[in-house]
Amino acid sequence: MWCQLFSEPGAGSDLASISTKAVRVEGGWRVTGQKVWTTVAQFSDWAMLIARTDTEKPKHEGITYFVLDMKSPGVAVRPLREMTGSALFNEVFLDDVFIPDELVVGEVDGGWKVARATLAGERVALSQKMDAYASDKDLLRFARSRELTPVGRHELGVLVAESQAIDLISARIVLKQLSGADVSTTSSVGKLLGMGMGQKIAEYVVAQLGAAGVVSIPGQPSDHAMEQLIAGRATTIYGGTTEVQLNVIGERMLGLPRDAVTGLRAAGAAE
Ligand SMILES: Cc1cc2nc3c(=O)[nH]c(=O)nc-3n(C[C@H](O)[C@H](O)[C@H](O)COP(=O)(O)OP(=O)(O)OC[C@H]3O[C@@H](n4cnc5c(N)ncnc54)[C@H](O)[C@@H]3O)c2cc1C
Repeated sequence: MWCQLFSEPGAGSDLASISTKAVRVEGGWRVTGQKVWTTVAQFSDWAMLIARTDTEKPKHEGITYFVLDMKSPGVAVRPLREMTGSALFNEVFLDDVFIPDELVVGEVDGGWKVARATLAGERVALSQKMDAYASDKDLLRFARSRELTPVGRHELGVLVAESQAIDLISARIVLKQLSGADVSTTSSVGKLLGMGMGQKIAEYVVAQLGAAGVVSIPGQPSDHAMEQLIAGRATTIYGGTTEVQLNVIGERMLGLPRDAVTGLRAAGAAE
């Protein structure tokens, strides 16, 4: 199992602002700093880690990408409880952790390019349907289990049609990636639409259920509705927030003026 040690308390959307440092030593590097929101870090054998290896260079140019053995001395993982009640993501403290030279990925100080490839790959994955979040499968299972009003049926139809269209866009993004094309911007479209769709479906089911939506009745078609509604909130934050995806699409696909504050420095934006 792997985790992604990218985000830090002071670096999320503006990921290149990371302050975790790696200092060169005999045969490798010593890494010190703090990461946060690291999904499944407590179960992981390995991590993808980015750290600052040159503080003098512009911030995108002084970052190196490492593979880290999570059992290395100096790695401490502290789970954080989410609003779903589970504790899947974590704080990770790195205290003078040794990483050998052979676990550097790409060029020293060239890690931003590798990180961008990881983030684009992540967005392609997030464009696809995932069992953990509400999908049209849940929607149809729910719709078949009850009598819907004409308005409810109309809304159901809109959601199913939209969901099918997003599936086609997602399939096209996967094919594009498999063909070796650059998916750094199109994956933002898939991620933005796919994650928003999961939220809309969960909201629809809970709204249809009314007060009954807040309780989970095992075995009922709506048994995960509330859980999916709550879990789905995170989907428009991780993998790059909705605002960041909109910036990428606006600037790189539509050619709109750059974001006055951070421009394309936001996480996942390819420069
Ligand atoms: C459930 C979950 C799991 C996660 N798992 C991991 C993981 O495994 N590994 C990892 O490295 N990270 C992980 N993350 C972290 C995630 O990538 C960050 O939360 C995300 O990138 C946003 O960063 P931030 O939380 O620092 O928010 P900020 O960047 O501080 O953003 C705060 C708000 O400002 C907005 N904003 C920021 N910049 C701009 C801009 N330029 N224009 C417009 N609006 C802007 C954002 O959209 C957001 O609404 C996870 C997060 C969650 C919620």
